[in-house]
Amino acid sequence: MSTERKYMVAGNWKMNGNRALVDDFKKNLAVPSAVDVLICPPAPYLSLFDGAEFLVGAQTISEFEKGAHTGDVSASMLADLGVNHVILGHSERRQDHGESNEQVAAKVKLALDSGLTPILCVGEPLSVREAGEVNAYVQQQIDAVLDVCGDRFFDKAVIAYEPIWAIGTGKTASPEQAQDVHAFIRAHLLKSSSAAQQMRILYGGSVNAQNAKELFAQADIDGGLIGGASLKVDDFNIICQAA
Ligand code: PGA
Repeated sequence: MSTERKYMVAGNWKMNGNRALVDDFKKNLAVPSAVDVLICPPAPYLSLFDGAEFLVGAQTISEFEKGAHTGDVSASMLADLGVNHVILGHSERRQDHGESNEQVAAKVKLALDSGLTPILCVGEPLSVREAGEVNAYVQQQIDAVLDVCGDRFFDKAVIAYEPIWAIGTGKTASPEQAQDVHAFIRAHLLKSSSAAQQMRILYGGSVNAQNAKELFAQADIDGGLIGGASLKVDDFNIICQAA
């Protein structure tokens, strides 16, 4: 990775965890000074992280600003709580909740409007990889966001490349496969803004304590978005050290 970009290792707990896990992480997660370490727990646990020595983020926000939207949590509420990051466009939300590229883009814009740092997830299903269409697929996901967010996106956002076939499957992309897509994403972003040189592009999909180091050593991989292996503090510590 370029020395100008600070590594980020983000844990995506998805719908897992409890008070005891929060306490375990607050007590035992060691933050290397060269790495931004972020934990994204389910929303009800966010405020239990007060006083943590690492960053805390949410896993989504409402596409609405406020009002009569039962069950939703707004970007501005998270900002009000002192939460400063949010994962957006995760493939599980695209799949479970039918989030389209346009809805994801609207959420990224709302996050930026509230001062949150969005972590925009992109990545292809296996059929797209097998058809050789990865770059075009990912570009479409990114362009939908660029269309509505403008320059603020480059100043603030983080991108996570997460091939769907690698998420939770134990089948990680090879460092070369991941680097190829990361390099494509950066080159594509650079067409719109030189600030893309500073943007962090994380890899996600079956990152673990064994494979993190080799992935993070790639030129355009600036850290990871970690699912399963972010639920055990010992494993997560090793991954943070690998960055
Ligand atoms: P995984 O999940 O590390 O369990 O594959 C990554 C993610 O979905 O963010």
